[in-house]
Amino acid sequence: MGRVVIGVDLGGTNLRTGLLSFEGDILDKRKEATYASDGWKKVVQRLTQNIERQLEIAAQRGFSVVAVGVGAPGVIQADRGVVVKSPNFPDWNNLPLKDELEKALKLPVTIENDANAAALGEQWRGAGSGIGSMILLTLGTGVGGGIILNKQIWHGADGMAGEIGHMTILPDGRLCGCGNTGCLEMYASARGIVQSYQEAGGAPINGAAEITSVQVYQAAREGNELAIRVMQDMGRMLGVGIANLINIFNPELVVIGGGVKDGWPLFIGATKAEIRKRAFEVPAERTEIVPSRLGDDAGMIGAAAVALQKIGNKD
Ligand SMILES: [Zn+2]
Repeated sequence: MGRVVIGVDLGGTNLRTGLLSFEGDILDKRKEATYASDGWKKVVQRLTQNIERQLEIAAQRGFSVVAVGVGAPGVIQADRGVVVKSPNFPDWNNLPLKDELEKALKLPVTIENDANAAALGEQWRGAGSGIGSMILLTLGTGVGGGIILNKQIWHGADGMAGEIGHMTILPDGRLCGCGNTGCLEMYASARGIVQSYQEAGGAPINGAAEITSVQVYQAAREGNELAIRVMQDMGRMLGVGIANLINIFNPELVVIGGGVKDGWPLFIGATKAEIRKRAFEVPAERTEIVPSRLGDDAGMIGAAAVALQKIGNKD
């Protein structure tokens, strides 16, 4: 009987579960709404039911599931499998998610921060396949990140490493939700792009009531000079952050994912120019900067990879 693993990406909006081979091939995948506002009990129940459905599918197809990996947003104590707190799940305080799931499923469960899981997913089967050390930046509503060193997630002393979005880029810059000012997230995220466009006096685009980052990319593509400048400034800020990462980690690869990736040609030139200006020449030359490849599957694939590492079936 073939041995397989279940990977889960528990997002604030969507809950994705997948059945994967030990090589990371997706044998089945499902997605449904999380309904985070239902409260932790119902969400954990829904999560359990979704995993149980994958277990049934595995059994029907003659596979044996050996472990379950879950990627969840927020502050995670990966070694204990506890969700300390999560902005997407306001009533989750020190929730022992690993214990809750293991009790229900009778299988080994690992819990990992979702951005860290996505980084390991890209390293395993995505843009970083075959690479040992890489950094993932997810440019979405905010900026998430994960650091992979020698094929392992770098957790740091308290499990809180990889908060790349909260790297200070401008000492007296915009106030961030984390309490710091001038975080990368305030400039290189979808929200940051909209704020930059508004602060520069940008008018609503094509009569829309609300400005979105997608509209700013579109305006820039159509030659709107203000939108072009906003995207180049965003690219510069991103370049400052990546130059710092290159000087500290000397990674082989930097992978950029998230919705802002759709504006790639509008910012990447400015990003690379800033890196050349600020980072040491040898590591700056060798670090490739590439878009992510796994898209929405990265977290699920990475969560499966974490589970396999934990039971010793992945290097
Ligand atoms: Zn911050």
